[in-house]
Amino acid sequence: MTTKAQSYLTHFRNIGIAAHIDAGKTTTTERILYYTGRTHNIGEVHDGAATMDWMEQERERGITITAAATTAKWKRSGTDQEYTINIIDTPGHVDFTIEVERSMRVLDGAVAVFDSSQGVEPQSETVWRQADRYGVPRIAFSNKMDKTGASFELVVNDIRERLGAIPAPIQYPMGQENEFKGIIDLVRQRAYTYTNDLGTDIEEHDIPAEYADKVAEMRTQLIEAAAEVDEDLMMMYLEGEEPSAEQLVNAIRKGTIEKKIFPVLCGSSLKNKGVQLLLDAVVDYLPSPLEVPAIKGTTEDGETVEYPADPEGKLAALAFKIMADPYVGRLTFVRIYSGTLQSGSYVYNASKERRERVGRLLKMHANSREEVSELKAGELGAVIGLKEAGTGNTLIGDGDTRVLLESIDVPEPVIKL
Ligand code: GDP
Repeated sequence: MTTKAQSYLTHFRNIGIAAHIDAGKTTTTERILYYTGRTHNIGEVHDGAATMDWMEQERERGITITAAATTAKWKRSGTDQEYTINIIDTPGHVDFTIEVERSMRVLDGAVAVFDSSQGVEPQSETVWRQADRYGVPRIAFSNKMDKTGASFELVVNDIRERLGAIPAPIQYPMGQENEFKGIIDLVRQRAYTYTNDLGTDIEEHDIPAEYADKVAEMRTQLIEAAAEVDEDLMMMYLEGEEPSAEQLVNAIRKGTIEKKIFPVLCGSSLKNKGVQLLLDAVVDYLPSPLEVPAIKGTTEDGETVEYPADPEGKLAALAFKIMADPYVGRLTFVRIYSGTLQSGSYVYNASKERRERVGRLLKMHANSREEVSELKAGELGAVIGLKEAGTGNTLIGDGDTRVLLESIDVPEPVIKL
């Protein structure tokens, strides 16, 4: 049961963008920050185009645009509901396996980006297996639909055959390669095309007749995947009844969170197509912190304790990345699982067996930092002032029974020469 204090968490999504090098993770992340920043005027930049310029300039200078965790806001299309989407940076380089696994630990869901001209490549398989290992629900984004050789079906089939997973194609591209012009939503049976190059003007249509056969075929695949995880849908399917969009969304959401099926979307982040529909899908299908298993910890006596996501519970946080900042010094990125971390308070670093003082707290946005007085369960941010905390350390309340959160038990990274 969700208490009043926990209710904000329903509208939280903590996600990673997982991909191997070159699939388009950076471009997709940039676009996500652009579309989320655009509607919310983050920081001093009040104009959407300026955000995009800023990101492109940073990129030219070779600066990493994302912090270890970036907080973005997204209003679900067609509704007034705003969501907080925390984007956790997952390193794409397979040699840094330990870093990838550390970041997997702090996210609740992921977007797996594939290059649709390549399908599932061996390196994308590695990233997928890491997410499997950490039980991370995923949606797949078949990117680069505009590229020569792009094929949505290739990605869908590879997910089934190479990854052994059940794909739930929730979209179908209108045209591929040079002809790629829009996206069909197979759940709601609507078509979307773009009328400007930034992808900000989207037109909604009925599905054009020329796609009817293909849509029927892909929708059957989708309904079969959803019926695998939902008995009512299976009955309807066997009786030849059409499920409503709402029934389909609910079944796909449930199957995705249970990691039994994987929604597949398409788009071209370079050409600004599909990224806003991807954000809607993050909201529709990936879990909130309330829908993932509570993190566990172990006391000194070997007892297991669980920390459900609750701002009123005992403090349990994990430091997952340390960064050196030229202005403020050491930044410790944390995920709060339970309780509330207050600036200026003392916490106990159970890994180092040290009491530590929390200085200032920051939420990182695409191009600004926001100082906050507290970080609540489900939130991610950076702490200034922690001297001892290292990656993977457990932070609990000062004076609480010593507990260590589930350790990250992975081999040392393999350095290829
Ligand atoms: P990352 O290594 O996964 O972060 O990939 P990048 O985002 O840096 O993209 C790798 C290359 O693919 C760059 O040259 C991008 O411009 C290009 N790229 C990314 N997305 C698309 C896309 O949707 N279509 C095409 N044609 N190229 C893309």
